Amino acid sequence: MMNTFQQLAYIIATALFVFSLHWLNSPRSARRGVIAGALAMLIAVLATWIQPGIIHHGWIVLAIALGFVVGIPLSRVPLTAVPQRTALSHAFGGAAAGLVGTAKYFLWLGEGPENLTPFRMIAIIAEIILGFLTFTGSLMAAGKLQEVRWIPQRPVTYPFQNVVNIGLLVIAAGLGILLIFLPTEPWSGAVFLAIVGLSLLFGVLFIIPIGGADMPTVISILNSYAGLSAVAMGFVLDNKLLITAGALDGSSGLILSIIMCRAMNRSFANVLFGAFGKVKAVVASGEQKVYKQETVEGAAQILEQARLVVIIPGYGMAVAQAQHRIRELYDQLTKRGITVKFAIHPVAGRMPGHMNVLLAEANIPYSALMEMDDINPDMPQCDVALVVGANDVVNPAARYDKSTPIYGMPIIDADRARMVFAIKRSKNPGFAGIDNELYFKDNTFMLFGDAKAVVGELVKQLAGAGVAVH
Ligand code: NAP
Repeated sequence: MMNTFQQLAYIIATALFVFSLHWLNSPRSARRGVIAGALAMLIAVLATWIQPGIIHHGWIVLAIALGFVVGIPLSRVPLTAVPQRTALSHAFGGAAAGLVGTAKYFLWLGEGPENLTPFRMIAIIAEIILGFLTFTGSLMAAGKLQEVRWIPQRPVTYPFQNVVNIGLLVIAAGLGILLIFLPTEPWSGAVFLAIVGLSLLFGVLFIIPIGGADMPTVISILNSYAGLSAVAMGFVLDNKLLITAGALDGSSGLILSIIMCRAMNRSFANVLFGAFGKVKAVVASGEQKVYKQETVEGAAQILEQARLVVIIPGYGMAVAQAQHRIRELYDQLTKRGITVKFAIHPVAGRMPGHMNVLLAEANIPYSALMEMDDINPDMPQCDVALVVGANDVVNPAARYDKSTPIYGMPIIDADRARMVFAIKRSKNPGFAGIDNELYFKDNTFMLFGDAKAVVGELVKQLAGAGVAVH
């Protein structure tokens, strides 16, 4: 009876996970998606907890309490830190899978050789290799994105690096195959621990050659590894919900990585082995070019005369939390009869959908948000392109300069607008570490300053000027 109830609960939780992912596809239904996902997880935990045979309830309560203690502060990180926060979650997931696999192996080993069937051993080996490499890999990725001082941000490369990395993985897998056939020899426990050590080491070595700029994509790939280790854990524990939830996690991580790679025109191999960001020093140390600046008053006057204004937000808008000021600017311009559109690059910011979330928070109508491919044909008719803290995603060098790490990445054609205003605080480069030639073009004028402050000033100017009639 209890078992039927549990299986029913698992089916409901699985359905909720699927709907959650579906609803997360659109900002309109995203809130519902989050609630469905959390509810599914609650049902999963409760249904597992009530299964007969569980005696250590105190440990479960302690684990739930610890989850709250760690989870609540993690949920409060700013949106700009979500990629590294996500990496930490994957690290926990990977560690959990690895530890469960290790515990199960030694428990079964103690209980008798008949427990360690080849099928269980395959699942355990897959679980520990994927789980432990996800653990250290995700910790390294989070550290790189958080710019932790003792973790090098730039790719660390050395001769035969890929051979060493792949070699390590092959040795771990080889030892795993040995254990599948000989799981209970006197030396089997030591070999098992050697696989754990090699997987932990592989996670670190896998991440160090990858540049900070590729970390969001790598985190998404690690997401799919965490999902796959959960699938293996589901087979080890004979838990169908873990298998389906892990498969959903694994495939959604993979799909997200593919979306990011496409948006940057990169291949998986290039992200994983390309040492992106290595060229930074060479390119950034080029000749000194001259920026032209505009005053806020001047920019406000030109904006007032425009018919079509395209606002291109980027990571700087998120850092400055300028979305609410941008909403005010949108109101000021639209009430003058000016058409205002937002050009959303798929990898603007630090995760897909970053800009959509911020603009939705400021109640900018969804209809004003245009995807890159839809807005680019309109750019030559655009009177003013207002770049707000975006850099790499509007860098024309991506179209032709093969020496830049962003070569081939599709961009928003800001340079094709009649005039460009670019808001940023300094002359520093963007995430990819290269100069942006858009800023030096004849029709580009810089508005140096914090995005929230500058847009706020623009709003003040426009509000003070009253509504001009076209
Ligand atoms: P970006 O190239 O990182 O540039 C952001 C700009 O914002 C910087 O030039 C910075 O200049 C400016 N900025 C920072 N704080 C600011 C503030 N308070 N006020 C005004 N400006 C500020 O950003 P992006 O154009 O959005 O490009 C995203 C990058 O991330 C791309 O290279 C993309 O490939 C990479 N990436 C994104 C994803 C994703 O899923 N979104 C995934 C992988 C990689 P100052 O310091 O001078 O102010």
